[in-house]
Amino acid sequence: MKLQTELISIDRAHISDSVMERAGELLRLGALVAFPTETVYGLGADALNEEAAQKIYAAKGRPSDNPLIVHIADMEALEGIVKTVPAEARMLAGAFWPGPLTMIFDKKECVPPGTTGGLSTVAVRMPSDEIARELIRRGGGYIAAPSANVSGRPSPTTAQHVYEDMNGRIPMILDGGPVRIGLESTIVDLTEECPVILRPGYITLSMIRGVAGRAEIDQGLIAEDSSLSPKAPGMKYRHYAPRAKLQIVEGPLEGVVSYINRKCADSERTGIICTEETRERYFCGNVKCIGSRKDELSIASHLFSILREFDEDGTEQIYSESFESPELGQAIMNRLLKAAGHRKIDISE
Ligand code: AMP
Ligand code: MG
Repeated sequence: MKLQTELISIDRAHISDSVMERAGELLRLGALVAFPTETVYGLGADALNEEAAQKIYAAKGRPSDNPLIVHIADMEALEGIVKTVPAEARMLAGAFWPGPLTMIFDKKECVPPGTTGGLSTVAVRMPSDEIARELIRRGGGYIAAPSANVSGRPSPTTAQHVYEDMNGRIPMILDGGPVRIGLESTIVDLTEECPVILRPGYITLSMIRGVAGRAEIDQGLIAEDSSLSPKAPGMKYRHYAPRAKLQIVEGPLEGVVSYINRKCADSERTGIICTEETRERYFCGNVKCIGSRKDELSIASHLFSILREFDEDGTEQIYSESFESPELGQAIMNRLLKAAGHRKIDISE
């Protein structure tokens, strides 16, 4: 059934009471509403209503074993859906909530298996975006919300991206402007002995260790050995992929620039993802600057929109510089590698 999709612009300085009430009512009635968060745009449904949560899978074309993150607006709500809140979770919530951190807990009965992909655990996040928090409160307090893109496509960082993917599939999109971070939340599993990062994000391993004292990275995320699969079910799927064949070029930056220039010399239609530091050094191809190496957040926040732009340009082949670093660069590279289907060219070899 094709729905009429309303795209409503929200003024952050004066969040409209009547619009938020209408959006909250849609959620309470079991419908889907897309909304901004500080990470990416989310596709919301009442997390405690199995039928509503199932609509998310249908609208996104998402595999049914890929569990949803439940979004809450205050700490009291957490106690309502999880069996226990370990001390380390309290410390992490104190430091990073509201914000771009998702934690995994053992779930209570009231969370339906249709929301958690059949798992006995539940992922919970308290976003900091004011529009998101207001909507969660009005929508009943527990909103399941994966990224509001069609499964496999780059996550949406503007309401326009959501409209491209969800027009005709959902009744309402709230437009709060471009998001601040642009990469999905860090996911930490608190059901094991030691906190384990299942997906890297804005909150880094060292930030988590700084608060919880200890934390590890899921070996399935970083292992080259593909027999180890990641613990977050969603991390095994192809994701973020542009239509073009994307390849990441690694090695000393000088060499990377000359390699890409050689590759593009015979085609203006080849895409290049570069940085402010290198943009003047490319002399052919469809060059897009992702941000500055001195400001990793600028790179994170432009990654998904650049991948979508290449789709619009009809680009068939893209070369990207590499952005490895111990901090945000780890999350950026995690998404970029997935988008590239792990195609890497190491020019120093
Ligand atoms: P998305 O909301 O699209 O950013 O995806 C949510 C991510 O959280 C996926 O990678 C899921 O596999 C992961 N996730 C959600 N719930 C759980 C859980 N209970 N245990 C492990 N991973 C989870
Ligand atoms: Mg997603």
